Amino acid sequence: MSEELQLHEQGEKIFVSIRLRPLQDKARNRICDWECANNDTIIFKNSLPERSMFPAAYTFDRVFDSDSSTIQVYKEGAKHIALSVLEGINSSIFAYGQTSSGKTYTMRGITEYAVSDIYDCIERQEERDFVVKFCAMEIYNEAVRDLLSPDSYPLRVLDDPERGTVVEKLTEVALRDRDHLHELLTICEAQRQIGETALNETSSRSHQILRLTIESSAREYAGAGNSSILAASVNFVDLAGSERASQTSAAGTRLKEGCHINRSLLTLGTVIRKLSKGRTGHVPYRDSKLTRILQNALGGNARTAIICTMSPERIHVEQSRNTLLFAKCAREVRTNAQVNLIMSDKALVKQLQRELARLEKEMRSLGSASVKGDTAGVLREKEKLIGQVIRPTSESCFIRALV
Ligand code: ADP
Ligand code: MG
Repeated sequence: MSEELQLHEQGEKIFVSIRLRPLQDKARNRICDWECANNDTIIFKNSLPERSMFPAAYTFDRVFDSDSSTIQVYKEGAKHIALSVLEGINSSIFAYGQTSSGKTYTMRGITEYAVSDIYDCIERQEERDFVVKFCAMEIYNEAVRDLLSPDSYPLRVLDDPERGTVVEKLTEVALRDRDHLHELLTICEAQRQIGETALNETSSRSHQILRLTIESSAREYAGAGNSSILAASVNFVDLAGSERASQTSAAGTRLKEGCHINRSLLTLGTVIRKLSKGRTGHVPYRDSKLTRILQNALGGNARTAIICTMSPERIHVEQSRNTLLFAKCAREVRTNAQVNLIMSDKALVKQLQRELARLEKEMRSLGSASVKGDTAGVLREKEKLIGQVIRPTSESCFIRALV
């Protein structure tokens, strides 16, 4: 079997990178045990005997030390995944890590760079028409909130037989241009901050998903009615802090929040662990809203990158190890990205069948009528029609073969 075919059959691995945050300027915290040995390996420098049971080196697709800029993290850890959306391939970029390790800082930059690159590509591709839509949501205490709506009531998550899991009544805005998107991103940011003040640092307890959906069609076919449309979404996911409720000193509301966070994050951990062992057995996507909504990104029809952020201070060493364990598991997960064509094969077959039936009817009526006119001319017309019908099929096969 060719290497390419084998890869296609097995799927593609999640691209996992680690980003070390710079030390924060507090004297008591200024001990760092982590060091990036090279581009893909992070090592634990401390050689205390009780630590020796843990591995000293961890290898990933990329590791970024605390001097790395967000643009570098974007270019080497996310860009190739995010821009797949322009080819009709679903993609997702996640930030995972404990509170204050740099998830939001990283995702803000990644989203900004990706959006800018996406619009640059769209503007360069004069031969295609693009429709770009945007939606944004926050999951807090297992309730989904629309970040583009002033209403804060929770939205229902439903299973649609055609579209998979959908969030009911989620606002989706068709974008005019990149400035329009920037306006909406500012609104989301403000919405998130309102939550933060009102609900005691909600932001570290909630998951945020920003989603751009991009549809494109070749201009020459515009209006032809039978052209294929490439359609895909890219998710930018800023996860809640990965620390467990038991490790926060809080009680009351915080604990309740923690339980829910645990439910979503524990389910995420379980899903990743199960998927890392191959596609056998039940994967509990349905156990939390986060994993339901992101099911595709976690093992389905999508290309995925996860950036795990780490706080370098010694006091966070246990959390950092947990993050590395999650990252190791995630690296074993394979997704199965496909180019999404809106005109499905089923629809194409139906269209061909209809056309064939029409031609057969025409032939019959031709046969029963006395052959008076230009039979050769009618046959030529039929051949032309068949040619027109066949063309989109071969185009769709070609596009599928590219995946
Ligand atoms: P999280 O979202 O994981 O809770 P934040 O992104 O809010 O963490 O980061 C915590 C603090 O550290 C913020 O003040 C942020 O500006 C700062 N920070 C995080 N990562 C970096 C970085 N790579 N370089 C400089 N400052 C950073
Ligand atoms: Mg944050």
